[in-house]
Amino acid sequence: MPVRQLDARFVARWIGIWDGLIVDAEPLLTQLDAAIGDADHGTNMTRAMRACQAALAAASEDTTAAAFSDLGHALAQSIGGASGPLYGAIFLALGDSVPAGTGIEAGDLVVGLREALASLQDLGAAVVGDKTMVDAIAPAVAEIEQQVSAGAPFEAAVEAAAEAAEAGAASTIPLRARKGRASYLGARSEGHQDPGATSSALLFEALKRAAVQ
Ligand code: ADP
Ligand code: MG
Repeated sequence: MPVRQLDARFVARWIGIWDGLIVDAEPLLTQLDAAIGDADHGTNMTRAMRACQAALAAASEDTTAAAFSDLGHALAQSIGGASGPLYGAIFLALGDSVPAGTGIEAGDLVVGLREALASLQDLGAAVVGDKTMVDAIAPAVAEIEQQVSAGAPFEAAVEAAAEAAEAGAASTIPLRARKGRASYLGARSEGHQDPGATSSALLFEALKRAAVQ
């Protein structure tokens, strides 16, 4: 079987699908953030998607690493809320860790995602169970890592990762927030799904869909 190359066009497809899912989910993201935050996660993320698309359209270099770095800068600069720098850190770390060149392989993406999670946690200091985007991303990264190292096809690995991310986002419902704005609510944050974990689960759903297109 030929090794699948994940090039800058693949990244653009992935982010294009995420954009569509975020736009559809904007009311939900707003509603979730209204319950435990300040009701701006839907707007923050749709604005972020516009900035991502602009960055991809303006790309000067046709490499996977450059596409990730451009997205990282766009995300870090475009969103007012906490989630902007956090998503920015994810994509900047991906850009820094994947090999330079026009395409990367599934194993490179897995290494990049592990670095991205580390960078997110360096910046936000959240661990699994704090009711943040880490609750969706950490299980998804663990799942894709395990699947790819066991030799699973890329499509199956990202499908399992998307399921893990969605389950991780759902797992935030009963939790009490220990990081971010929602933590100010204490026990009143319990019983609501975390908005950032929800948008992060959509990132992995988009990766799954991009892989089968
Ligand atoms: P803000 O909280 O500034 O209004 P958003 O509403 O866009 O920003 O994003 C809120 C989301 O950011 C939360 O639902 C949570 O998932 C995520 N978040 C907040 N603080 C952290 C943190 N320290 N580490 C990881 N994720 C965080
Ligand atoms: Mg908010």
